[in-house]
Formats: sequence, structure tokens, C-alpha cells
Amino acid sequence: MAAAETPFSTVADLAAKLQATTKRLEKRRLIAECLRSLRPDEVAPAVLILTSRIFPESEQKALNVGWATMGKALDRGRQATLVARPLTILEVQRTFEAIAATTGKDSVVRKRRLLESLFGRASDSEREWLLRSMFVDMRIGASEGVMLEAIADAASTDVEVVRFANMLAGDLGRTAAVAVREGETGLRGLGFRLFTPVKPMMAEMAGDLQEVLDEHGGATALEFKFDGARIQVHRRGDEVRVFSRRLTDVTGSVPEVLEIARNLPAREFLVEGEVVALDERGRPRPFQDLMRRFRRVHDIDVLRREIPLRLFLFDILDRDGEVLVGKPYGERWDLLASLVPSDLLAERTIARSVPEVEAFLRRALDAGHEGLMAKALDSDYTPGKRGKRWFKIKPVETLDCAIVAAEWGHGRRTGTLSNVHLAVRGGPTGDWAMIGKTFKGLTDAERLEMTRRLQELKVSEDRWTVYVRPEIVVEVGYNEVQRSPHYPSGFALRFARITRVRDDKGPAEADTYERLKELYERQFERKGAAVQGP
Ligand code: AMP
Repeated sequence: MAAAETPFSTVADLAAKLQATTKRLEKRRLIAECLRSLRPDEVAPAVLILTSRIFPESEQKALNVGWATMGKALDRGRQATLVARPLTILEVQRTFEAIAATTGKDSVVRKRRLLESLFGRASDSEREWLLRSMFVDMRIGASEGVMLEAIADAASTDVEVVRFANMLAGDLGRTAAVAVREGETGLRGLGFRLFTPVKPMMAEMAGDLQEVLDEHGGATALEFKFDGARIQVHRRGDEVRVFSRRLTDVTGSVPEVLEIARNLPAREFLVEGEVVALDERGRPRPFQDLMRRFRRVHDIDVLRREIPLRLFLFDILDRDGEVLVGKPYGERWDLLASLVPSDLLAERTIARSVPEVEAFLRRALDAGHEGLMAKALDSDYTPGKRGKRWFKIKPVETLDCAIVAAEWGHGRRTGTLSNVHLAVRGGPTGDWAMIGKTFKGLTDAERLEMTRRLQELKVSEDRWTVYVRPEIVVEVGYNEVQRSPHYPSGFALRFARITRVRDDKGPAEADTYERLKELYERQFERKGAAVQGP
């Protein structure tokens, strides 16, 4: 018979003890002892709650509860009388799952009810820890590092084994559960299986080029950064599967890639790269054309002729059953280069000085690509992690836009105008032409100040949005001007973010719709012609 469910107070008591000690070893001991005392199915939820994660990083789930709902639920929950049966860890987890699964009409009310009943069942201290776990961090010093050590202790295994398994699994809760249940053998089998997509390693935007060289110890590997779609190609024997960056199976949309993969001289591998759509002159086409191709599952053959794909490979994570993620990038690159013909490899060089990086960047841009990736030669492949081991280097393009409206924010941004509507002067109707929205780029303090200024310029408002006189000009950084059916202007900025508030400029000096169109056209001098819409 399964053991009875463990009360949630066990987690709350542990959190209180962890908060009370600053000693790392003591924290480690307390957590390990607790994990060992739990039922197997309680280990993952307990770890996720203690580390303020709630849900595994590998799942795209979130509670999505605003402060207002939270406050109401808390008030009512507090008034409820405690039932005799204590709240259990699994009940907390089930409630979190139910909240995340609540969508659509009345979801705010339904979420509030779930929270109310949760808070109603909790004691004061349990409520406090639930709140901290959901909305702030726990502040108990149970960082991922301490947690990994405690998991290793609980499973009587080496912390490096746990760390490596966790890196592959990308899910601390699952790692803990497998460690406690199956020990080292279980951990070794965790996370990496061919035909199961791996979360891609990600890059940070480089501040300046010297920083890149410094971070990478004086020498860095530069590769062209292709503006395409990232894919991972898994093959065993005749079977090939291709997954997108978001881990969806896109095997059916990319016959070219399957042909390439089947012809490579290995029985089994997992390689990673970028597919790019090219025009007749071999220059990259705009991202949107690629997406048309990528989303398509039917009539692939027709579209394949219209928008052929090129594949550029840049990493290898498994070869003939050997998992390579723990090997340094330099070694992985050599293995990749020994497997695939050179025309399938990303253009690459090793740079030791800023002028060398600049020269290679110019080459990438001249060839129509987006910029560079800079990769540390000694770096592991860390699935799902973004860090300075990989940098992206891109020239930032900017446009001065006026703010014409702004939407009230949610969560941490509640009570401030956060998502601003951006427009350029002299649109097709002679008026301001909206070309995007962004809530990125301002600090909390700047957003508060912006909220105050925008309210002074208010001309009308509805439930979510305040419409303003276009007087504030902001410099907006972006990646690409795209054609857009959403705005009457016909254009939208991809990845817009505010880079500066241009108080030195009035609305008459904002950029114009004419200039936006020019910028759009100019992209294709580098990028190849756009395909006419579907
Ligand atoms: P980000 O996703 O913003 O971290 O930027 C990295 C993205 O650039 C990756 O997800 C890939 O889709 C893309 N990319 C293009 N060329 C490369 C390359 N040579 N190495 C790694 N990623 C690349």
C-alpha cells in the first residue's frame, strides 16, 4: 500500500529551518533528509516549490495570476475556517496544475476560487511559504547549487552526476525524483534520448566586442549568424526526425534536410543547425518567407521549388550513441566537420582581436546574414541555458518613433502603462502610422515616469489602453522591418525595444513612413527579394 500523502507543513517547516541557518552544509543536510523522507511522487513538487519554480522549466506552464486576484483570494482564504485534515504536498501541486490549466472565459474567477480553497486549507505559515514560492523567491538560500548537492546526498551519489543529468533533463524536480528513486543508474539514463528533442542552448547579446574576447579567454570561435530557423536533426539508421527550436516535430516540412541527413556517413547522430530560405542569387530571403515554408505541411513539393532551403550545421550532440554535450565546443566542431561536407557547415573562424571580429562581422553582413555568433572554445553544450558561453553579435538598427498609446500592465507592471504603441509620421492616410508595440527597454523607474507623462497627454481611453497625443519620441531598436497584416501601415518592427527616450526630439522630428519603407527595401539589398504573399 502506498504511504499516506505527506503534509505540506513538512515543506513549510523545512523552508523555515533553511531560512534560519546560513550554513550551506546544514542546508544541504536538511534538504537531503527531507527528500529522503518523502514519497517518490512528492520529491519533484517539493523541489519545485522550494526553488520557487512551481513548474518544470521544460514545460511552458505558468500560474498567470495577477496581484489583484491573489490579494482577494488571500483575504477570503484567511477567513475560511481550517479543516481538520492537513493540506498535503500533492494537493498543492494538483491545485497549481489546475490553476495553470484554467483558461478562457471566467478564468480569473475560477483561478481565484482555486487559490481561495488552497489558502483556506493552509495554516498561516504554510500560506506565507506558498505565497513566497508563487510570487517572489523563497529567500531561504536553496539555490540550484545547494539543491543539486542535497539531491546528490539524498541519492548517495556524486554531485557532478546530478549536475550533468539536470543539465540534460532541464528539470530539477525530475532530476531529484529520479535521483532519490533510482540513484546514479537512473541519473545516467536521464534526459538524453535520440528522437526526443533537446532544449537548445542559447546566446546572450554581446555588449561590446572586447567583452566577448575577454569572456572567452582571449580567443573566440565566430560563426555566421543565419536569420533562419533553428533545427535539430536526429537520425538512427534510416529513421530521421527534425525538431524546431520550440521542440515541435517539423520532419514533414523539410524534405531537403531529410535527404541530407540520410546521406551522412554515420549510423546515428544528433546535429544542430539553421535552415535558411534563399533567393535565386543564393542570398537569404526575409524570415517571413522561411516561416511560410516551415509551417507548411501540404504541397511541400510546390513550395520547395519556390522557396528552397539551405542547411547550415553548427553543432553535434550525439554520434553513434556517444553523448557529446559534455565535450568542449572545439572538439564538437571537429567531430561535426569530420562528419559533414564543408558546404553544410556554418562559415567559421577563430578571432583573437576586435578588428578580426569586425572584419568577420562585415563579411557576414555583406553576405546578407544577420550577424555573428561567438562561442567559447572550451564550453559544454548546456541545453536550455542562456549565457555568455555563446554571444550573439548584431548591429542594432534604430528608428525614432512617437508613442501614440499605451496599455496598462499586468503582474509586476500593474498600475503602470507598460506596452506602448509606436508610430512613425506621415502614414498612408497622412496620419501617424502604428508599426508596433513594446514593453521592453524601460527600467521600472523610467516606466513610472513614462506613465505619469503619458497620462498628461491622454486624449481618450478604454479599459486597457490610454490613447495619447503623439509628443513623446523614443528611439526603438529592432531586428527587422516586416510586412504586417495587423497594422494599417502594412509594416511591423520585429523585436522592438526602447533603447532611449529622445527628449531632445519633438514629434516633428520622429522618423517618417517614407523612411520606414526605405529601410524595408534596403533590407533586401542584402537579403534577397521578398516572395509575394500566399
Ligand atoms: P537567440 O535565440 O536569440 O539566443 O539567438 C540565437 C539564435 O540564432 C539561435 O536560436 C539560432 O536560431 C540562430 N543561429 C543562427 N546562426 C547560428 C549559429 N551559427 N549558431 C547558433 N545559433 C545560430
